[in-house]
Amino acid sequence: MFQTSVLASGSKGNCILIRSRNTALILDAGISLKRVWAALEALDVPRHTIKAVIVSHEHSDHTRSAGAMARSLKIPLYISPDTYDYCAHRLGKVESWLRYFESGIEFLVGDILVRPFRSSHDAIDSNNFYFEHDDRRVGVAIDLGYPTKLTVSMLSRVHALILESNHDPEMLRNGPYDLSLQQRVRSEHGHLSNVEAVGLISQVLHPGLKNLVLAHLSETNNLPDLAFEVMNKYLQSIRSEVKLHVASQHIHTSLIDI
Ligand SMILES: [Zn+2]
Ligand SMILES: [Zn+2]
Repeated sequence: MFQTSVLASGSKGNCILIRSRNTALILDAGISLKRVWAALEALDVPRHTIKAVIVSHEHSDHTRSAGAMARSLKIPLYISPDTYDYCAHRLGKVESWLRYFESGIEFLVGDILVRPFRSSHDAIDSNNFYFEHDDRRVGVAIDLGYPTKLTVSMLSRVHALILESNHDPEMLRNGPYDLSLQQRVRSEHGHLSNVEAVGLISQVLHPGLKNLVLAHLSETNNLPDLAFEVMNKYLQSIRSEVKLHVASQHIHTSLIDI
């Protein structure tokens, strides 16, 4: 067994569950603990099975309850040294739970292999990931900026992919964001648009990819139906059988087999 659920995703908080039969872990804890526990309960995943919390980068939509989760469950908190230096104040007292990871260097949480790799998102040391168990892999790239060669090569062999589909360019242009914020979102250090997500999928798609979850949708500059439609149109045009899901800010996805 190897499964994932996006417990929440969007600019107001991100949290992803990955689990094998023996180990579960949380990637990013950008929502309240109360919401994490409620989602786990709804999915019938006992919280004592969570063996680690991993932080991808320092933005508060990824770190909010990471420290509290490590303390509450008495589990390791994996973070890069630079990210920790930047957001230690937000994590609270975690010294005894702290474990450092480095971009490009794999580590194990129970029987799940974790591979962090650099993303060009505008954080001090932003990482995307893939997780591997029993030769099955899930990629998570929800704060991407710009897909580099490394991004494409790391996501090319995954069986499930949780991918940013942040905004619709038209809605961003006509929405309430001022010009500098629009530029940040659009830049190579910001977020992928719906169309850019299609561009990346066209580069990494292979017959082994079974599930694709669109995530980190902007509530201001995107609509779930629109993100779905743009990707679905592409997948249908190439007769792909990938199952398409859209993650939500407010409700967890089902448990998806990797
Ligand atoms: Zn971010
Ligand atoms: Zn984010």
